[in-house]
Amino acid sequence: MSKKIILCILIILTIFLVSSCKDDTEQEKNGNINTDADKSTNNNTPKEVIMEDWYFFRTYDGGIYGNDKRPVKINPVSEKAAFVCADSLCMHEEDCPFFECMDSYVIDNYVFYVKASPRRFEDTRGAASRDLCVYDMLNNSIRLLAEYEDQLYILSGTGNYLYYCIEEYNESYSSSIKYLIYRANAKTGNIMQIGEYIDIYPNIYTITNDKIYWWKPDVDNENIIYYTTDLDIKNETTIGLHENNTVFMLGKHDNGYIYYTDWDSEKLNQLSGYEYDYAWRNQKLYRIPLNSSGKAEPEIITESIINFVPCGDKIYYTVLEETPEVVKYNGVQTYNWSGGKIYVMDSDGTDQKLLCETEYVFSDIFGYASLGRMMEVKTINGVDYLGLSFYIAREYMFLNYGPSPDTLIINASTGEYTVVSVPE
Ligand SMILES: [Zn+2]
Repeated sequence: MSKKIILCILIILTIFLVSSCKDDTEQEKNGNINTDADKSTNNNTPKEVIMEDWYFFRTYDGGIYGNDKRPVKINPVSEKAAFVCADSLCMHEEDCPFFECMDSYVIDNYVFYVKASPRRFEDTRGAASRDLCVYDMLNNSIRLLAEYEDQLYILSGTGNYLYYCIEEYNESYSSSIKYLIYRANAKTGNIMQIGEYIDIYPNIYTITNDKIYWWKPDVDNENIIYYTTDLDIKNETTIGLHENNTVFMLGKHDNGYIYYTDWDSEKLNQLSGYEYDYAWRNQKLYRIPLNSSGKAEPEIITESIINFVPCGDKIYYTVLEETPEVVKYNGVQTYNWSGGKIYVMDSDGTDQKLLCETEYVFSDIFGYASLGRMMEVKTINGVDYLGLSFYIAREYMFLNYGPSPDTLIINASTGEYTVVSVPE
């Protein structure tokens, strides 16, 4: 696979970088609020309610190539799911404000979303323009923040701010690609351009109170550099280097570390066919400290990872089965790469154990990593809840199987699990 393709995938992955693991102290501030999905959106809800702390958010379709990206919220405690659109009269079809939603990102009580505009590009592209909107979940109100003629990618968010970039349209494809980086304030609606990247996609890992954590290929396109800037994307400081440029999986962060996976690319080059297929799903999990100064040596946590999510001093993860079970969807054969099993370990890789074994296939059509597939964790009242998307027989792209609109919820204290659906 060429590096260009890998970089494209990285670009796609950045859209799905979500860190939802909050520490207990933050949860405690919310005390005993009612977490029922319906009541928490009514107008009498106390202002201190932070919807982001109580719900998983995903798209209805669940796939990055899916057409139906209406945002859905899932409460793992009440085991209820609903469309984010809380208008009780809305049927959530053509008239729903989220009907042509292309991407969304939740910060606090705000859902930023990108919508295909009825306006069309005026040049030969023919595609819809982009509207950036923000939906206030507590007040059920929508504000249009900006309209763009060019492609908009959501990068990340923090506090009240969303970071996104606009890829300037480049008709000739011969000149440089320019990414204009913006920051939007959810409360005021103010938008500010804070910089631009030329020919390098602005990959943000995470944003803290005072820093943005990024990664990019080095000048020779051989290695991945991890670096920080301030919130105005100035004062770039390198924090680490990964000696390879095949970092395939999305990185995640928690508890003072960036975690990411990578293939053994040398081994991949020696393999073919099924072996190759198998090997590129067989990834090592690395971590580097967020506060590192200079070139931190990445530490290998464990091997054979497919997907993972760190939360505090735990990592929840799936591993590659030695002999994956064959799964058939309408006659099309694939593999249940992780066997429906979820494992848990301490964040340094010790004390690895099986958390639960389910009947669901959640290591997807591509198997490797988590190409937009949901595996998140939320800590509510001291309990970690895992939210996972899984696969079912359905028409999806050119396949007979794709992500289910339902979500698997696992209680990490007991290992019990259930499937939550949006009501018809
Ligand atoms: Zn609606």
